Amino acid sequence: MATTTKKDYYEILGVKKSASADDIRKAFRKLARKYHPDVNPGDKASEEKFKALSEANEVLSDPKKRKIYDQVGFYSDNIDPATAEAYARAGSSGGGFPGGFSGGAQHGGQGVPFDFGGFDFSDLINNAGRGQRTSGSGSFRAIFGSIFGGGRGAHPAEEGPEPGTDLEYQVNVPFWTAIRGGVMRLNITRNDVCSRCHGDGALEAPGKCPECGGTGQITQTGGRMKFNVQCPRCHGTGKNLTTCHTCHGEGTVTNTEPLEVRIKAGTRDGQRIRLPGKGNAGAHGGTPGDLYAIIRTGDHPLFHRDGDDISLTVPVSASEAALGAKIEGPTIDGRALLKIPQGTQSGQKLRLREKGVPSATREGVRGDEIVEITVHVPMPRDERTKELLRELAKLNPEDPRAELWTKV
Ligand SMILES: [Zn+2]
Ligand SMILES: [Zn+2]
Repeated sequence: MATTTKKDYYEILGVKKSASADDIRKAFRKLARKYHPDVNPGDKASEEKFKALSEANEVLSDPKKRKIYDQVGFYSDNIDPATAEAYARAGSSGGGFPGGFSGGAQHGGQGVPFDFGGFDFSDLINNAGRGQRTSGSGSFRAIFGSIFGGGRGAHPAEEGPEPGTDLEYQVNVPFWTAIRGGVMRLNITRNDVCSRCHGDGALEAPGKCPECGGTGQITQTGGRMKFNVQCPRCHGTGKNLTTCHTCHGEGTVTNTEPLEVRIKAGTRDGQRIRLPGKGNAGAHGGTPGDLYAIIRTGDHPLFHRDGDDISLTVPVSASEAALGAKIEGPTIDGRALLKIPQGTQSGQKLRLREKGVPSATREGVRGDEIVEITVHVPMPRDERTKELLRELAKLNPEDPRAELWTKV
């Protein structure tokens, strides 16, 4: 199952053991540019390579860490320089460090337990006079935790719950649905909990783990030393676990499913409607994210919507405008009586209180309708009409541009 690979930081960065700090810095920059995830989106191999480069650089670019690495063959924050020095002086005889640690890869991920190929860490610590006691895989992991830290793709049994991410969907709501309310049906593509493994990413088969016989630990020996490590197959559970093939161990699967979004009457353009728990499923029992429906309201050929107000243009005849009239005008509720005051000019606006959109947020509140008047000038087709208009002009000799000139 697990293949072992030696982690040689110098080899990863392609530099000699004698490389200067500058050589290391240059080598890292060159390779990091090539393998950066932004440059290779979705490329798993590049991602892994980039992680390895970052790890190598982190150690080799730091003189203190590099010294420990050179002396011991690997680096951990938990090894202090004195311990490393003591080890280096003692030499690597008697089943000491195998010149680096090897990592087992399972499920194509990182973070699985490492195989130290025969090094008893407690001996090293005791030899160095630290008197620290280590026993069992728990403390072993605690000591080496920083080496494995941050790795992704580890067996789900080892990871805590991770909340799911939120989703955002634009919802195009027709004009009338936004005003009167209704239901919009969407097709949402989201990560859902895998129904086969119930989000565990693994399935339990009958029997015990074939690797450790159900104890959860395996013994590593090297030379005269031996120690127990957590079983890499079952991750210490002792159970006969296999990766779920439906979700490939992820615990979630991508599903496209219909979803109904309730649109309240008066919903406005740009509004965000939160649907709790309808985002992506969380990993390993984590809470799901939320779904946000971003509302885009549709247009209407006549009515224009501005928040809860409706505006439109209504033409009136010259005589209606001059004499005043009661006319019928359109509102979102149907026809409404509109009172045109005497002497209404083109462009004048009339406000019809509470004939606008019912507010989605304030109960019982409605917007207004704003009617802009355009005066329809008569087109005289006969002599009689022309005569009347000339007579009208004589009776009303005022100059409509008089005010204009006062402002020039
Ligand atoms: Zn599954
Ligand atoms: Zn096991």
